[in-house]
Amino acid sequence: MLILTKQTVTNNLSPHNPPAARCTSGETVIFETRDCYDDRLMGDGAVIEPEKALENPATGPLYIEGAQPGDVLKVHIDRIAINPTGLMRASVSGGAFNDLVKTRKVRQFDTTGEYIQFTDKIKLKIDTMIGVIGTAPHTDTVMTHTPGSHGGNMDCNKIVAGSTLYLPVNVPGALLSMGDLHALMGDGEVMICGLETGGKVTVTVDVIKNYPMPTPALSCRGKFYSIQSANTLDQASRMASRAMLKFLQQVTPMDVYDCAMLLSLAGDLSVCQIVDPQLTVRMGIDQSILDAYEVTLP
Ligand code: CA
Ligand code: CA
Repeated sequence: MLILTKQTVTNNLSPHNPPAARCTSGETVIFETRDCYDDRLMGDGAVIEPEKALENPATGPLYIEGAQPGDVLKVHIDRIAINPTGLMRASVSGGAFNDLVKTRKVRQFDTTGEYIQFTDKIKLKIDTMIGVIGTAPHTDTVMTHTPGSHGGNMDCNKIVAGSTLYLPVNVPGALLSMGDLHALMGDGEVMICGLETGGKVTVTVDVIKNYPMPTPALSCRGKFYSIQSANTLDQASRMASRAMLKFLQQVTPMDVYDCAMLLSLAGDLSVCQIVDPQLTVRMGIDQSILDAYEVTLP
């Protein structure tokens, strides 16, 4: 099986990055990823060679043969295996608590079991997700800490093993990269980190032609989401809601009034993260709504 090692990492998603590897549509590939601290932060807070570190590195890019601009890249997350430990670092420079957090305190947790022991009284269930996953933008070079229409640092805690992510193809080969695994992360990511770790992500990639997917879109645990990022949560909320409305109009016989009313009754608008250079929101619907009209996602 093709493996992209964590030697081929980048801190940006760009149409100009040379492919680290090539594969065909339908192929299963492993991405080995560093943690968001470039594997240089230790459990005691020490940092190795900070001057050389990449911020939020992503492994890739992978060139998928046959992927052309206008297509959709289907990325099925087959499996995520994480490192035996995860780290958090209190951020003094942003997030919801920047004025409360005075020092860069680091905590390390054992991630080998089903739970992490947060305090002697609180256990939290591990639910590993991918923070950064995206294709290359059309013309711009976007840093891996920024999400956008190409995906990137969406920090959506529904991008888990078993889910299927749909990303836009903006350039030939799509140029898929990923990194920034979290053993666990709450909606909002309010202190700018999840339980940061590295690992191995096994994905199967397929090129989808001619489908009106509201990318970035995600099928996960019986729900279908459109994930949108913008300068404000208001703007991202509007974009995610409208992307889902347009999709429903295209794949069902319902008109704009019915689609709008349906989303107003049954839409699940949630915050992914409020801490990255663009903010990310997802609009979700229950899979049963698609099933009612025999809409089968590709
Ligand atoms: Ca992130
Ligand atoms: Ca992270």
